[in-house]
Formats: sequence, structure tokens, C-alpha cells
Amino acid sequence: MTKVVKFGGSSLASAEQFKKVKEIITAEDSRRFVVPSAPGKRFPTDIKVTDMLYGCYDLAVKGMDFTDQFNAIKERFYSIIKELGLDLSLEKEFEVIKACFIGKAGRDYAASRGEYLNSIVLANYLGYNFIDAADVIFFNDQGQFDSKKTKKVLSARLETLDNAVVPGFYGSMPNDTIKTFSRGGSDVTGSIVASAVNADLYENWTDVSGFLTCDPRIIKNPAPITTITYRELRELSYMGATVLHEDAIFPVRKAGIPINIRNTNKPEDPGTMIVESTSQKPKYTITGIAGKKGFTVVNIEKAMMNAEVGFGRKVLEVFEKNGICFEHTPSGIDTMSVVVHQAEFADKEQEILAGLHRNCHPDSIEIETDLALIAVVGRAMKSNRGTAGRIFSALAHAHVNVKMIDQGSSELNIIIGVSEEDFEAANKAIYDIFVETKL
Ligand code: ASP
Repeated sequence: MTKVVKFGGSSLASAEQFKKVKEIITAEDSRRFVVPSAPGKRFPTDIKVTDMLYGCYDLAVKGMDFTDQFNAIKERFYSIIKELGLDLSLEKEFEVIKACFIGKAGRDYAASRGEYLNSIVLANYLGYNFIDAADVIFFNDQGQFDSKKTKKVLSARLETLDNAVVPGFYGSMPNDTIKTFSRGGSDVTGSIVASAVNADLYENWTDVSGFLTCDPRIIKNPAPITTITYRELRELSYMGATVLHEDAIFPVRKAGIPINIRNTNKPEDPGTMIVESTSQKPKYTITGIAGKKGFTVVNIEKAMMNAEVGFGRKVLEVFEKNGICFEHTPSGIDTMSVVVHQAEFADKEQEILAGLHRNCHPDSIEIETDLALIAVVGRAMKSNRGTAGRIFSALAHAHVNVKMIDQGSSELNIIIGVSEEDFEAANKAIYDIFVETKL
């Protein structure tokens, strides 16, 4: 059995956290390949090492003195090394990094040093091999992840080793410069490593016990999700349930490797298993609820719209030409609505309105702002009659006016549009009816 274990920044923010991580890793022989993030926040107002590195590099690029900021980064690592009692000096590494900052080696290079150094420290502490991600994770000339080359080199490299620590978040470009994934990208590295070693499981250790059935800022202590499919996860993550980087799913999903989200601070919790498919019945009819505020609806009305072939295309073409993605397009006989992200739309509003008038000659266009969307997601909804009925009667009882409904043909989710001020009440009502009353 081989497991790849990825630890997030808060799991490795201090020596105390390092000790928990070592305990977790040594508890099972299968935990052979480790992917760490850079040290994260130790307390809410703390600054992540990655952000400290970005800040420091920005000063360096402007030719400003960055000694204090650089020393603060050194101090983060030295306090960990000292408290763990390690016989390890990073002085030479820091000299190289400082020279590269002065030589303007790039923002990605700067940011990547958090994972690089943290991995050296963790490898030393565990007695594991250290493999620099720059030697095994590759991007192509366009800056896209090169999965073919990476798999070949990474698999061959790790095959020869019993254990290894591979820094998350970065790799190298064909010209040998460093490139990072987007923020939170160590999750992606973990997934790539899991796929390269054909792991039985990819454990992603963080500071929460997996995905929750509802946003904990709205519902206090919501029930955890024990098992979720990749498709359900995609629906929930898209609507804001962010525990895992979106791009972390693809490499392991393709290789048929499940992901287990675990809590470093509560290793006894089973966390959430993310799987391709499962015969396990979810505890509740719904797997989870997630939602987002900040949508605008553009309502277009035109008599006899239904008879005009190509009307929908003409409407969407205007959005396309302005580089705006649409979220949903509920329609009636003589009406069509386009739901878009408010912030994106606001920048292009007048161009889009002019374009719609020119392209579609509507009778009227109305814009409604401050809409919130809520996704009620669950693989069990398909086989359960009356799910929609329960949702809408719960919303009616909570005096929430439903502005939009969209149920996909997969019957995996129901999307509900409500006014932003009803967002919390709507979430609560849906959570209560399915989870609290266990319907
Ligand atoms: N350290 C990087 C960040 O803060 C990457 C990661 O933690 O996954 O985004």
C-alpha cells in the first residue's frame, strides 16, 4: 500500500505542527511520499510565508532594501529548525535566494522558495529523501503543466526510492526558470505525485475535517460529508466550497485514485473520501449545499421570441464577444434571462446592452442585480422523489422568494437563485429540512 500525503500551510506553520505531521506520517508505513506547502498562518492575523516572499521580492524588484522582510522569512524557518532541535543550516540556501532576488529571478521563483525550504526542513526531520520539484515537475513553453514529461521523469525518479519529500506548488519551465501553479497549488503537486507512483490513496491533510454539508459561516458545526463523488465535488467547489484546489482532481481521477481530506489537528476524524463512484448511500438525501453571492440577471423580452430561430445564439454571442461566461439561461416563451457574474458584467455593461439591442432587437431589457445562487447537490436526489418539493416548501416557510430554478438533466443538483439578502435564510432552510430533520 502506498499513500501520498500532502500537508497544507497551516499543518506546517510551526514546530508544534511539524511534530503532529511527523506523528501522522510515521503512524503508517504506507505514507511514503510527502508533499508539503510553505509554512502558513499560525494565528488568524499571521502572514503566510508565500505572501512574505511575494512582498519581499516586490521590494527587491523595485531596487528597495528588503533586509528586514528577508530576515523575517529566515526567522520563520529558523524558529522551526531550532524548536525541532535539527542539525540543519539553511544559510547557504538563503544566500542563493537573496542573490536571485537581487538578480530578479522572477516572482514565481520567489514564491516557490517557501515550499522548497519547508521541504528541506521536513525531509531532514523525517529522515526522508528530498527531491527538488524543479527536477521532476515540468511546464511547457506556454506555461501549461506538461503531464507526459512529468509522469515519465517523476515516476522513474520515485520508483527508486522508499520515501521522498517533494515540494508542492512549483516546477520548471523548458528554459529552467521556476514556474508555480496558481495559489493553493501544492494540492495539484500532491495529486501529480500520487498519480506518478500509482498510489492507493492521496491523503490531503489540512485544518478542517473534510467537506461540510453547508458553509460553517452560515450553519454552526454543519454535518461533515463522509463520501463525495468527483462530480458532486465539482458542483460544490464551483459554488464556493473550497477545501481543495480545483486542478488537483484531474491527475488522480484519471488514475482512479481516491482522495481523502484529513485534519492534521484531528487525525482521529475520518475526513471526506472523494471517489469516482460509490455504492455507499449518503446519510441524507443531499450531499451538500454551497452558494455564492454576486450575480446579475439580464432579462430580455421580445414578443414571438419562441418563433425566431437562432435568437438564443444571438443573445449569447453578445456575451461571448465581450468575454463574459454565462452561468444559467432560464427562458420562457417570450423571455430569456442570462445569469452572469456581477463584477465581470459591470465592467462591460453598456457594451453588452448596446450589443443586445443591435443583435436581437428586443422589446425590453431589464437588469436585476444582487442575486445569490445556491446549489443543492446530491447523487441520491435522482432516486428520491419529492426532493425539489421539499426544498421549495422549506424556502416558502422561511419566507424566501425564489427568483430562479435550474435543475440539470443529470439530476445531481438543483440551482436556486434568491435575492442576496435571503441567502443565509435560504441556506438554513434547506440544511434544516434535509440534515436536521434527516428527510
Ligand atoms: N504556498 C502556496 C500558497 O500559499 C501554495 C500552497 O500552499 O498550496 O498559495
